[in-house]
Amino acid sequence: YDVEYIRNFSIIAHVDHGKSTLADRLLEITGCIPKAASNKQVLDKLQVERERGITVKAQTASLFYTYEAKKYLLNLIDTPGHVDFSYEVSRSLSACQGVLLVVDANEGIQAQTVANFFLAFEAQLSIIPIINKIDLKNADPERVEKQIEKMFDIPASDCIRISAKLGTNVETVLQEVVRRLPPPKIEKGSPLKALLFDSTFDHYRGVVASIALCGGDVCKGNKIVSAHSGKCYEVNEVGILTPEEVPAEKLYAGQVGYLIAGMKDVQEAQIGDTLHLLKQPVEPLPGFKPAKPMVFAGMFPVDQSEYSNLKSALEKLTLNDSSVSVSRDSSAALGAGWRLGFLGLLHMEVFNQRLEQEEYNASVIMTSPTVPYKAVLSSPKLIKEYGESEITIVNPSAFPDKSVVKEYLEPMILGTIISPDDYLGKIMSLCQTRRAEQKSFLYIDEHRIMMKYLFPLNEIVVDFYDNLKSLSSGYASFDYEDAGYLPADLVKMDILLNGRPVEELVTIAHREKAYEVGKAICERLRDAIPRQLFEIAVQASIGSKIIARETTFHASQNLMHRRCDGDNKETFDSSHLTAAATVVAKSIDTPAILSDNTQFLSENG
Ligand code: GDP
Ligand code: MG
Repeated sequence: YDVEYIRNFSIIAHVDHGKSTLADRLLEITGCIPKAASNKQVLDKLQVERERGITVKAQTASLFYTYEAKKYLLNLIDTPGHVDFSYEVSRSLSACQGVLLVVDANEGIQAQTVANFFLAFEAQLSIIPIINKIDLKNADPERVEKQIEKMFDIPASDCIRISAKLGTNVETVLQEVVRRLPPPKIEKGSPLKALLFDSTFDHYRGVVASIALCGGDVCKGNKIVSAHSGKCYEVNEVGILTPEEVPAEKLYAGQVGYLIAGMKDVQEAQIGDTLHLLKQPVEPLPGFKPAKPMVFAGMFPVDQSEYSNLKSALEKLTLNDSSVSVSRDSSAALGAGWRLGFLGLLHMEVFNQRLEQEEYNASVIMTSPTVPYKAVLSSPKLIKEYGESEITIVNPSAFPDKSVVKEYLEPMILGTIISPDDYLGKIMSLCQTRRAEQKSFLYIDEHRIMMKYLFPLNEIVVDFYDNLKSLSSGYASFDYEDAGYLPADLVKMDILLNGRPVEELVTIAHREKAYEVGKAICERLRDAIPRQLFEIAVQASIGSKIIARETTFHASQNLMHRRCDGDNKETFDSSHLTAAATVVAKSIDTPAILSDNTQFLSENG
């Protein structure tokens, strides 16, 4: 064992540029897995990942590779590619000294390539640019090399052209990992200092933590302490991942591996935490931050008798994903449920899909997603009540009234769009309708542009990405980063059914767009509400002012009935529409509203 013979690296890429395929080839060449006839993508362990072809949870593999008669230990840390998981990317990167930046030879640099490059660059990692898919007929590696030179200031001659699919030049990649990447920096003579950069939950053994050792060593029987919580644990097992777990006697400084120490859930194994020996504290590693949910939605069982089943399915899932926040919620129409917080929309979708795979068969209702708005309170009484002057609102029905608020704030993101310039006009007008402000504009080659826009997060949460994709025939790519909060003129909009507000349908909108949003909600509800024997008035109001109104169709007008059983296989958009319809259905079933109906009918003759 000598740290000079260790390399810790990660592969980063825009989605579908070939990260998993390259990882598989690296594992095959180093003999970790048998040569596969098909692309198995071993690192994409979770079923969701296989199905969707994306990498959600980072997985690590230790490879042995002989170069110039020396045996090297190469630790490959697989990172998720999607924007929602950029926090997982950055913490995985902090366990590395270098990255392979994979770019598709046909598609060239895309939005996530840029985002991932800057994460690696800011972490001061060595970057090896890889042009993949050179076997494709339309491959244009030269153009991509020029983009890399222009955008990232990396000489074209540094790029390695490969085909991960065919294995062309993949051996060169391993050699360059050894040649170009530095060995890990370790603190000589330091007692154990380990970065916890990932964790999974195992029913028999508790938390399995992925760790990178910056100093010291660790073995079975050691008493270790979490710098974050101060809790002490006894180490039961350590080992390396190949990617199967292989127990080892000891892990040494510079190594990456796993550790099992009786941590009961992933909350105890906080990502970014530093582990040290009992009575031998060390300076904790910098950069620890808990994952921050950016999209919230209510989740309810369609049938309340399913509550406890759903609860245990949820618990099982959150054991493995500490980035989902869960709090109890209840609604008059939907009953008891939860308010869930996700890192982003894909994260929410993936979570729902996993929930389905938990052999959980009952239907689930998700409410429309919302972003965490803030309000700066002006009322001393309220400030005292909350214990602070700035509150975060994750549930629109709890939106405080303007009379007690100094100002409202909304979360912003800085979005990066890369597209062929043919779609420039359409993209710019889409961004305009989303209240976006252009921050920069750059030609990355003769025909491709990169634009940066400052967006309110709320404006991209629903169907922005789908619109962007469809107006650019799939060519535009998008990524975003957190850009803090800005003041916004927000209003709370009530949705009324036959004159009665329905709490579950409360929406927060920007004043400028309130009319448009209200109209759209009313129209969609009109179409989603199951046909009744009587008409129902659907209205949107701000304060006492009605801003939009629709009337549902009469059952006799059309015999088509819509089911509203919260089928969780539907796409997200229709699933929250289903939630709205269910709320409406349940609301109109209640006697109180039925009597309103009667009144409404008589009023209208
Ligand atoms: P990831 O999203 O970056 O992990 O990308 P994947 O490894 O899942 O690859 C996305 C798609 O590109 C898959 O269909 C792969 O088979 C394909 N692919 C990956 N590498 C190559 C390559 O070198 N040549 C060709 N023609 N296809 C490739
Ligand atoms: Mg992948």
